[in-house]
Amino acid sequence: MPATRTPPPETLRPYLTTRHELLWEEAELFADQYVAPRVPRLEHSTSKFDRRLAQLMGDRGWFGVTVPAAYSGLEVGHVAKTILIHRVSVVSAAAGAILQATLIPVGALDEFGTHEQKKRWLPQVAGGSVLMSIAVTEPVAGGHIGGIETVAERDGDEWVITGSKAHIGNVHIADLHVVVARTGTEGDSPSKALTAFLVTSDLMGVSVTPYRAGHGLRGFSAGRLDLDHVRVPADQVLGEVGQGMEVAQRSSIRYGRPNLAAVSLGIHETVLNLTVGYLEERDRYDGTLIDLPVVLDRLGDIVHQFHSARVLLYHAACLLDHGINTVTEPINAKYANHKWAKESAQDSMELHAANGLALDYPLQRLIRDIQHTYAPAGTGEFQRIHLARSVLSVASAAGPST
Ligand SMILES: Cc1cc2nc3c(=O)[nH]c(=O)nc-3n(C[C@H](O)[C@H](O)[C@H](O)COP(=O)(O)OP(=O)(O)OC[C@H]3O[C@@H](n4cnc5c(N)ncnc54)[C@H](O)[C@@H]3O)c2cc1C
Repeated sequence: MPATRTPPPETLRPYLTTRHELLWEEAELFADQYVAPRVPRLEHSTSKFDRRLAQLMGDRGWFGVTVPAAYSGLEVGHVAKTILIHRVSVVSAAAGAILQATLIPVGALDEFGTHEQKKRWLPQVAGGSVLMSIAVTEPVAGGHIGGIETVAERDGDEWVITGSKAHIGNVHIADLHVVVARTGTEGDSPSKALTAFLVTSDLMGVSVTPYRAGHGLRGFSAGRLDLDHVRVPADQVLGEVGQGMEVAQRSSIRYGRPNLAAVSLGIHETVLNLTVGYLEERDRYDGTLIDLPVVLDRLGDIVHQFHSARVLLYHAACLLDHGINTVTEPINAKYANHKWAKESAQDSMELHAANGLALDYPLQRLIRDIQHTYAPAGTGEFQRIHLARSVLSVASAAGPST
């Protein structure tokens, strides 16, 4: 049996069907066979992203995990999506990031697309021949969606889009970008001033800056998308004109937050496994480090954080599968999974003492990778603002929406 095979824990049984368990196994086998051998190469390369991994996941139909069967998707929902991202991220958060970044715009297309758009694109997405990205963040406006400066102007049967997007996941390998641009005039309410468009990467005026590796998630394509008078047919508006903020926010809440939580959970699980292995093997006095009560106590804290984070995520995904339109649970899951995984990684580093500091020790990769799940799909600040507001009896008058 491959080293990373771990059957679903009993605590998750209420959330899982037989189909889910098969997907769990499929994802682990895939991660063992295709992802694990790539990790050392990706870690040492600062000039290459991994296109082949995306293709391999696409070939398995995983980009269509939430796509209805009517459009050739697997139609197995949010828990299934969580399983795929979680199990792959145990082996490589970069691989999990590739998967999660395309599943956000796929969700947007499925929820806001016309039948014609879905018929045209979703079977190709589900078949793995089209990879998607979602381009919302901008170099100046950052995560402030209301401040988007990319402009789309109507010209006959086309829209002409000009602007720049930053930190876009899968930007170098995506064939189809969901781009959110400003279409409203000054008098329009901010929530109605934006529109989402389906923009193919081969259109004239679409360009991507060369890949530069970040702090972590080595091999995950992310970067800047420039649009210079890109002409997009009017039938490629996603949702209604003026619905762009809703497209961005709803896909971030329903897909982005659970997805990023699943990447964090995968990192967290590997942190835990690495820590247990180290503490059980390192001799001290007549036993090992794990026999020291203070060390045991610190490990207990990591276990508490991991178990709690895992349940929050699977619970949130299960609510979505039950059609419960919750905003708070995915936010809470994303926030807790990042926070606790980061804290566990730091605890683990301290428990490893000097032995965790070697550059090629896996904990180094995990500590770098976990930094990348804070910003996307709503930073911690936005999550906390939402969580605080969710218990207030009077709606807070000022401040950003989440
Ligand atoms: C791995 C990764 C993948 C990503 N993938 C995508 C993608 O596919 N598509 C995409 O569009 N974007 C993507 N992003 C970008 C991500 O969405 C942004 O980083 C995020 O929205 C924050 O924007 P910013 O980094 O410019 O920070 P800023 O918006 O400049 O914020 C800086 C700091 O100020 C805080 N802040 C800002 N405004 C407020 C406020 N009103 N109240 C309280 N605090 C505030 C923020 O929380 C943050 O701490 C990705 C980022 C990463 C790291």
